Parts: sequence; C-alpha cells; structure tokens
Amino acid sequence: MTVRVRFAPSPTGYLHIGGARTAMYNYLFAKAMGGKYILRIEDTDLDRSERKYEQAQIEDLKWLGITHDEGPDVGGEYGPYRQSERAHIYKSWTQKLIDKGCAYHCFCTEAELTAKKEIQESQNLAPHYDGTCRKLAKTEVEKRLAEGHEAVIRFHVPNKAYSFHDHVRSDVTFPEGMVGDFVIMRANGVPVYNFAVVVDDASMKISHVIRAEEHLPNTLRQLMLYEAYEITPPEFAHVSLLIGEDRQKLSKRHGATSVALYKEMNYLPKALLNYLCLLGWSHPTEEDVFDPHTLGTLFNIDRFTKSPAIYDINKLNHINGQHIRLLPSEELLSHVEKVIPGNHAFHKMNHDWKITCVSFFKEKINQFNEITAHIDILFTTEVSTEAEYLEAKSWETTPKIREYLAGEIATAKAAGKKFVSLEDYDNWSNHVKGELKIKGKQLFMGIRSVLTHQAHGPDLKVIIPLTPIEILEKRIQLQ
Ligand code: GLU
Repeated sequence: MTVRVRFAPSPTGYLHIGGARTAMYNYLFAKAMGGKYILRIEDTDLDRSERKYEQAQIEDLKWLGITHDEGPDVGGEYGPYRQSERAHIYKSWTQKLIDKGCAYHCFCTEAELTAKKEIQESQNLAPHYDGTCRKLAKTEVEKRLAEGHEAVIRFHVPNKAYSFHDHVRSDVTFPEGMVGDFVIMRANGVPVYNFAVVVDDASMKISHVIRAEEHLPNTLRQLMLYEAYEITPPEFAHVSLLIGEDRQKLSKRHGATSVALYKEMNYLPKALLNYLCLLGWSHPTEEDVFDPHTLGTLFNIDRFTKSPAIYDINKLNHINGQHIRLLPSEELLSHVEKVIPGNHAFHKMNHDWKITCVSFFKEKINQFNEITAHIDILFTTEVSTEAEYLEAKSWETTPKIREYLAGEIATAKAAGKKFVSLEDYDNWSNHVKGELKIKGKQLFMGIRSVLTHQAHGPDLKVIIPLTPIEILEKRIQLQ
C-alpha cells in the first residue's frame, strides 16, 4: 500500500502546537513509509477562514522543517487542496449518495427543526432528525426545488453499530442510534466537515488519518459515509490530547501555544519538535533527545501513547538546552549573535573569542536569550553586596592579592595585551600560593573577589582569559 497522509488545518488562526504535533506525526509517518504527506486547507468556515492564516501556518510548518509533497502552494495530482475550491467535487459526490438513496433533500426550516427537537427532548428522546423529508417522493422534491425552496442534503443514517480499529485507541465501537440523519451539504452548497473530509480523504487516496483525539466522535459519521460510497476507510490513529498542568485542554491560558511565539522566542525548531514528538509517542529505544527529522523508519504509528500528554514548558526548555549544547560551534554562534542586543560589547570581539565564549556559556542556558546575562559577567564592573563577597574582601590576605594582581595586570597591559592568557592566570595563582603563602579558601575566593567583585561564578580559568584586560584593570582600581 502507498502511504498517503494529510494534515488538514483550518486557516482560522495561527498554527497551534497541537496542530504542529499532528502535522509532524503525519510527516514522519510518510517519511518512514516512503509515502506522501499532503497539506489540505479546510476553509469551509467562510467567516473565520483567512488566507493570511493559511500563509502563516505554511510559514510555521516550513520553520519546523515539515514540508509537504502536495498542497495548495505546491500543487499535486489530487488537487485542488483548498476545500473552498472543491465545490464541484462535493456536488458530484453528494449526487452519488442521492442516486444511491443514501442521502436526500431536506426542506425543514430552522423553526420546524427546533420545534421537533423540543418535543423529543420533552419526551426524553435523543434529539435526532425525525426523517420527515426522507419520505418525500422524487417528484415532490423536484417540484419544491423548482419552486425555489431551500434544501440541505441529509445523509440517511443506517440503523446499526459501527466498529473500527484505531492505532491508538484499539477497537472502538459506536453503538446503534448515536446519531440521526445528519446534514452533509448546507443550503448554500457549502459541505459540512464530516462529509468534506470523507470526500477529500477518499479522492486524495489518503491511506492513514492521524489526527487529534477530539475527532474520534466524528469518525462514526465518516465510517457511515465510507460505507455508503463502498470505499474502504483509511486506517485511523487518534492521538492523545495535549493538556495543561491543570488537566484542561491546552489553551492560551497555559502560556504560549502558537508555534510563531516559539519561533519569536528563538527556540530551536528541532527541539520544539523533539518535545512535541514525545507528547503522545515514545521512542523505540527510549531516547528523549533526538531530532525527529532523523528518525526515519524508527517512527512507528504503533508507539502512540493513550493517556493525555501534559504540556510542560520546563521540559521543553530542558530539551531545548540539550539541543543547544549539541549544536556545532559556528551554528551556535550564529544563533547567539541574533539574540544579543546590537550594542553589546560581545559584537566587538573577534571570532575565536566569540566561539570560546559561547561554547562555554552554552552549558548554562536552555534558551538562547539567556546567554546575554551570562556573557555580561565578562564586562561588568558592578560590585557584589553579598555577605560572602564582603567577607572575602575583609580577609587580611585579600589586599595582598589585590596589590600583586594590580601589578601583573598593569604590566600585561603595558606590554600591549588585550587579554591575559590561561598561562598568566595559572602563574598568578601559583605565585599567590607559593610566594604569598595564601592557601585554600583565602586563595581562590581571594583571587575571585579581587578579579570579579563576586564571591561565586563560573570557572576563573575560563572567564579571566575571556575578560578584556581594561575591565580587569577597572575592577582592581574599584576595590
Ligand atoms: N480541519 C480539521 C481540524 O483542523 C481536521 C480534521 C481532520 O484531520 O480530520 O481539526
């Protein structure tokens, strides 16, 4: 079987992280199976659909590296790929059902339908369409249509239970009587979602439908339609819901839920995908840091997890940090250069310095923009007010260290050095230990307090050679 899958967003807003996850699962499955991944725009909600959202969603998918083989912008042999351009197809597929006696025109007005519903509810009956128009003779239908009466098309629901096997939910059965004859085409010719999806999935030869669990109830109507068309339904996988820590469906209340915001915040797309991938799917060798684009045939739709997945931004940040640390240094630098403010002294440093700097501080960050605060410690002349620093400053050994280092730094500067080396630093520390006889805490905290004005911080062997010599000099003078 040729695998053909689709992601079918409605262009009524920006791409949601839940949508991105669904798109990725479909994309990865197509890649794993040597199949095709299709983008279909479900824009039948004419009031809420906008072309700008379609474009924005395509942009965001591109940023994530989820590229479609067929779609409205790239074409393909099963187009058009926007539902709004497929009216002629829905019309002919509706006619097929009418001809087979599986669908009929319904002339009941809204007021009549409401009245019928109220009666059914008062009798504790399920509010299903009562089938009035199902009984109309063909000639009567034609007469009313000729007279200009408005009609929707309803599907004649068979009285039977439906079952199917879902790749996530296992065997699912919908008992008889769950739905009444439902509308498939509105009076204005716009198809209803469950009908359009079946027509599109069938005519686009979709083999597998991987979508969010919230669509599980829709599958019942869709199975009925496949049966009426005598078409084998695709295989289904309804992936678990994304929920917030309060166990409610993920929404804006839970923070950033649109992909565009993560792009703006400079997350690595592969890290976002990595995190989303694990929310609802598990890696066959239990790995938790990987680039989903490299999964290849490891991506298997029988590894979806059933329980709802809690979206936790801290976990995403952790995974983002892991991916940052795995970046080759040049790539790392190019990301960092984009997030450090333009007037920062960082930008004036030479390439080697920058590489050493970012390669060191990457260990401390989970997001690129956190790095600026770390790099700032190489340039600041602020003095700590912490008790531990004040204590180190008050030791009688500390002024001796200061005096010695002031001389060393002045000499280095006079010799034209812009930075001191690791060797210089080691020599200083050996001198303080060997000649000044200062040891232990007094030695290392003393040197740190003199050179950084802090009691704690990153490894001096790294940060001192990275700190411009005039900054070291200013700090010494400021004591
Ligand atoms: N347009 C639907 C949505 O955005 C897609 C449903 C489906 O995948 O069948 O949720």
